[in-house]
Amino acid sequence: MAEQRVGFYPGSFDPVTYGHLDIITRAARLFDVLVVAVGQHHAKPGLLSLEERLQVLEAALRPIRDTISGCDIRLAKYSCLTVEAARRAGANVIVRGLRDGSDFDAEVRMAQTNATLDAEIETIFLAASASARMISSTLIRQIAEMGGDVGRFVPMEAAAALRRAFAQKSGENDA
Ligand code: ADP
Repeated sequence: MAEQRVGFYPGSFDPVTYGHLDIITRAARLFDVLVVAVGQHHAKPGLLSLEERLQVLEAALRPIRDTISGCDIRLAKYSCLTVEAARRAGANVIVRGLRDGSDFDAEVRMAQTNATLDAEIETIFLAASASARMISSTLIRQIAEMGGDVGRFVPMEAAAALRRAFAQKSGENDA
């Protein structure tokens, strides 16, 4: 039997957006197993907790799993080097998304660094879809913080998690 093709899609997913979900849907057609992995940086705690990001992702992956039959989409978390986490997951391909030139510069640098750390692991890039190109988690957090509607950019579980996070923050500020 041919060896399974295992892809590893790492990110902060703070929160997951329709841009990420588009990459996941398209990457799922390329692999037998796709591991979506939430990275945890001690220096960058982010807005949503690791558990919230995972919960939101779990809910957002459900409809994708229902529509795509040929790929086992798994969810994972990691706090080690990305190449190490990919290796542990049995993946030899890291998937990343490219929106524009600034993504390109940062992503190529990262891919080259990862290739130096582990030459067995290849990074592939999927170009962002035209409809999702402008979506970034940073922008979504800013819109949500100002009370704007993020429903067109993120799944409803993500919008709800953002509302809770900012309500809690403003409660802490009022206290
Ligand atoms: P990181 O902090 O590791 O960049 P992100 O969650 O911001 O994590 O992004 C994970 C990956 O998804 C990155 O490769 C990023 O370029 C890509 N990505 C983010 N938003 C989009 C989008 N709207 N369309 C396509 N790719 C995207």
